[in-house]
Amino acid sequence: MSAYDVIVVGSGGGALTGAALAAKAGLRTLVLERTPLIGGTSAYSGGACWLPGTDVQQRAGLPDSTEGARAYLAAVLVDPDQERVEALLAHAPKLVAQLEADPLMEFEWIPFAEYYDAPGRVPMGRSIQPKAISRDELDPRVDAILRPPVERDRAGRPGRSTLSGGQALIGRLAAMVLRDGGEIRTGHHVTGFARDGSGRVTTVLAQGPDGPVELTATRGVLVAAGGFEGSAERRTEHGTPGRAAWSMAPRGTNTGEVIDAAAAIGAATDWSGEGWFCPGLLQPDGSGTFTLGFRSGLMVDQSAQRYGNECLPYDRFGRVMAAAEDRTPSWYVFDSREGGRLPAIAMPEGDPAEHLAAGTWVQADTLEELAAATGLDATALTATVERFNGFAASGVDEDFGRGADEYDTFFASAGSPNKALVPLDQPPYLAAQFVLSDLGTKGGLVTDAAGRVLDGSGTPIAGLYAASNSTASVFGSAYPGPGAPLGAAMAFASLAVEDMVGSLSES
Ligand SMILES: Cc1cc2nc3c(=O)[nH]c(=O)nc-3n(C[C@H](O)[C@H](O)[C@H](O)COP(=O)(O)OP(=O)(O)OC[C@H]3O[C@@H](n4cnc5c(N)ncnc54)[C@H](O)[C@@H]3O)c2cc1C
Repeated sequence: MSAYDVIVVGSGGGALTGAALAAKAGLRTLVLERTPLIGGTSAYSGGACWLPGTDVQQRAGLPDSTEGARAYLAAVLVDPDQERVEALLAHAPKLVAQLEADPLMEFEWIPFAEYYDAPGRVPMGRSIQPKAISRDELDPRVDAILRPPVERDRAGRPGRSTLSGGQALIGRLAAMVLRDGGEIRTGHHVTGFARDGSGRVTTVLAQGPDGPVELTATRGVLVAAGGFEGSAERRTEHGTPGRAAWSMAPRGTNTGEVIDAAAAIGAATDWSGEGWFCPGLLQPDGSGTFTLGFRSGLMVDQSAQRYGNECLPYDRFGRVMAAAEDRTPSWYVFDSREGGRLPAIAMPEGDPAEHLAAGTWVQADTLEELAAATGLDATALTATVERFNGFAASGVDEDFGRGADEYDTFFASAGSPNKALVPLDQPPYLAAQFVLSDLGTKGGLVTDAAGRVLDGSGTPIAGLYAASNSTASVFGSAYPGPGAPLGAAMAFASLAVEDMVGSLSES
């Protein structure tokens, strides 16, 4: 049986932040990743991190501060665990300074509007991202195991030579782990935990490539292994909207066994019906793909009615979509002003010709024909489009206020007088099927401000820590802004390691 100080389960942004800081602190650190590739959904991500009040925002001259972020969260979160919120706010500047002190890590501001018009919001956002880096600058061992960006991974293609966004985050962190003597084992599926005689979690059970392995961690086990978005059974059990097949997590990654394994030794769970939701473009293979930034066109339900502001931040639109059954599938109706491509950012969009052949998209010269092809009522669809075109002409969406918020016009800028309202008048017309997708679930293990996993009575389970989508999110049902999943995951993973290092110096 091999012994380590720290065992980290999973290899997303939170996991590798914890592992990099643990290795840097001189702890014998092991990362266990179930698939052959590291990075999970984090490697697909834009790498935006909602970590407010740091030097990076200062350098960019932003009107950001810890106080401003506190006001923003106070307005946006519903009944939050204030201790965890304060821990995140207080720790973010320190974490970023610590990471940037390493020559392998450098952040920059990424302009990307926050998701609520609330006090403390920073115009154009306060999120930061790791700077792009060439693969050649990293340890070749990282190169061999880094999961490619989503559009390449899903197509079975290798990654790019320049790593940006989530690729840069995972690549840089993994290189730090290896440089400082940490170990990363892929192909190790963690299945359980065991406590020692004092009740402390010291043993991690995993299925390795050559069979079961048992590993010990003297200082702590950090679970940061995604949510259960990839498990149809667990989604049904917890009443989580959407479907495993429509989720964005890489196939075969986040199915929640590790959350259940912690629960089996007494960990409490919460927020289990929650996710980071988004509209998902239905693909010919039945999957859904994260779509944001609609530039023109409109979304209708099965009665051919619009039901929301299509330019809402994606999680908020996803929640509107989930609110009624006849919104799945929805049809996104658009015209040919973008040459038959979807007027939005879909990750990935897929080939329009394949969509048309599969029937996930339809095309017609008139709205009546489009209605016939989609099964929508022709009179209702025509009326919806005419009403929308009237709003485009007046510049006011009287139904849903599209274009009134800075987020709406962050991506949509072609309309006049309202940038986000573009008439639908250039045939042929197209309609694309949409379902409810997600960037992961965010219900899971209940943790405290130090990232310690709590039992049902609120007592920390010695030796067991958690961060990322494996935990009940500090943000609850809200998605405050770009980078909220990664920012929180990184902050609480770092706090967990601080607690482990603290326990090291005490012993
Ligand atoms: C296209 C796209 C863009 C996004 N952009 C952003 C963004 O810019 N900023 C942001 O904050 N969020 C973004 N997100 C969301 C974000 O990427 C995820 O919510 C977040 O990365 C999840 O992190 P995680 O560590 O919980 O899970 P993951 O990153 O998915 O990592 C979990 C890892 O744990 C492994 N694992 C699971 N179970 C086990 C087990 N039992 N044993 C061992 N290993 C296990 C998995 O295989 C996986 O590799 C984006 C998502 C997508 C799809």
